[in-house]
Amino acid sequence: MAKSFPAHKVKSHLVYTVWEAADVLGCHRQTVIRWIRNNGLAGDTSRKPWLIEGHVLKEFLGHKQSKARCKLPLHHCYCLSCRGSREPDGKIADYVQETASSGRLTALCPTCGAVMNKIIRRSDLEAVQAKLEVTLQQASPRLVSCTEPHSKVTLKMEPETHVKTHLG
Ligand SMILES: [Zn+2]
Repeated sequence: MAKSFPAHKVKSHLVYTVWEAADVLGCHRQTVIRWIRNNGLAGDTSRKPWLIEGHVLKEFLGHKQSKARCKLPLHHCYCLSCRGSREPDGKIADYVQETASSGRLTALCPTCGAVMNKIIRRSDLEAVQAKLEVTLQQASPRLVSCTEPHSKVTLKMEPETHVKTHLG
């Protein structure tokens, strides 16, 4: 996950040295130097100490953070096995309510087939359902036996003992 920086603490009208900028943002000075060297942060490096105008830094951070947010769309999961944002295989996922306001989305990685988990807010579920076919699962087996007839529970056990018949 990309670290987020308190861009709101940067004052647009001030000019910061690398040291001061790092201090305000609570990051290492090397991080700020790297932004200037490699990530396109426009600093004045013609003399020491390097100077960065507040509004430039603010804009840079805003850009950086909105980019980080876009990285993982709501209906995508992060695959820990092949390391990347993935749209669930077959656009299907399971959702298990875990708390009153959030639940776990489970899907398969289309690239490597690993199981991906993601905690989403209950209020985001509709948005996810607009993109994926989400199957709502019961959280606890006890709930299932309370709400469903006994015969159905027995039925659910059957696939485990069911053996595929060989053809030919
Ligand atoms: Zn994967």
